[in-house]
Amino acid sequence: MSYSIWYTSPLACCRCGSRTPPRGSRMRSAALNPDPSDRVVSPGDLLDVGLPDLAEAFEPSARWPPGAEMLALEAWTCPNCRSTQAALVTLASEGDVGWRLAAVRATGLTPEVLASVHGASRDLRDTMYPQQLALLNPP
Ligand SMILES: [Zn+2]
Repeated sequence: MSYSIWYTSPLACCRCGSRTPPRGSRMRSAALNPDPSDRVVSPGDLLDVGLPDLAEAFEPSARWPPGAEMLALEAWTCPNCRSTQAALVTLASEGDVGWRLAAVRATGLTPEVLASVHGASRDLRDTMYPQQLALLNPP
């Protein structure tokens, strides 16, 4: 069983415009953390995760040859208006050491975003329309 990574980055809601306080986004990635406990991370932190952890958490598309960077979409819910939406998680490879969290920011699920990212969490996929999933995972 894997545990969650919780993100501290403040997020700006794409629907109501409010901005969460630091640690207020309550955003997490389930199944990303191989350690037997939850972990709270901020941009700049090194995550001791490998390719199997990334694959389990974000189900990468064929667009992602494991390389220097992973752009992944995660779900989060605005604490003000309660809408569930997407955030873009940018991870930078540190070779054998793991992956560094470079940035987390709220994003809309535009065709351009869906066609440029490398994967998305199951929580977010469950909220997406078939057309969005097709852009995420082209045949
Ligand atoms: Zn909101």
